[in-house]
Amino acid sequence: MKSIFLKKNDLKIEEIPVGKILCLGKNYSEHAKEMGGDVPKSPIVFLKPSTAIADKDGKIEIPSISNELHHEVELVILIGKKGKNISKSDSQNYISGYGVGLDMTLRDQQSIAKKEGNPWTIAKGFDTSAIFGTFIEKEKVSNPENLDIQLTVNGIVKQKSNTSFMIFKINYTISFLSKIFTLEPGDLIFMGTPEGVGRVISGDSLVGTISGLSEVRAFVK
Ligand code: MG
Repeated sequence: MKSIFLKKNDLKIEEIPVGKILCLGKNYSEHAKEMGGDVPKSPIVFLKPSTAIADKDGKIEIPSISNELHHEVELVILIGKKGKNISKSDSQNYISGYGVGLDMTLRDQQSIAKKEGNPWTIAKGFDTSAIFGTFIEKEKVSNPENLDIQLTVNGIVKQKSNTSFMIFKINYTISFLSKIFTLEPGDLIFMGTPEGVGRVISGDSLVGTISGLSEVRAFVK
């Protein structure tokens, strides 16, 4: 069983069993453009299994079927309360925290799947494709939709944006998803990546940061 860690204060970190991992695709227009696609009119949603979560050491292993692993740094929402058909105005009551995540992607496998009209399950759901830092309580994050977001590879900045550029906002996304999926405590929502995604190879070190949140660190085996 994989866990999420939620920092309550300097002395207390709560361990929460992870539920399902919902992810948005193309939620920043500049990233949608670099992927050669239009900005979505409705959220593009995919799932990662809980087994996709990397161990605490942040080691990423590239499956042998792929030769093109890409980094995607993202704001991640931690759900704290069970809900279905949540209204936009009520959605804040279902959030318990925010974190920084990496949605690691087998871009070659995703391209094949897109071309053939197949699901992205392999490209997005493989072991070690989901990595996140310690979550921070919602109350400590004053405006999650206006935070600088960045990813470095070996100390070089590769992605740099702000969460204000998200197309589908947090309240809308929770309301939208909860019409389809019952949200439960321990569920995560990856809010999509800004532009600047790119390939990483064996030996690379990744650091994802969002201002005010705990960074996420990973390395490619
Ligand atoms: Mg992503």
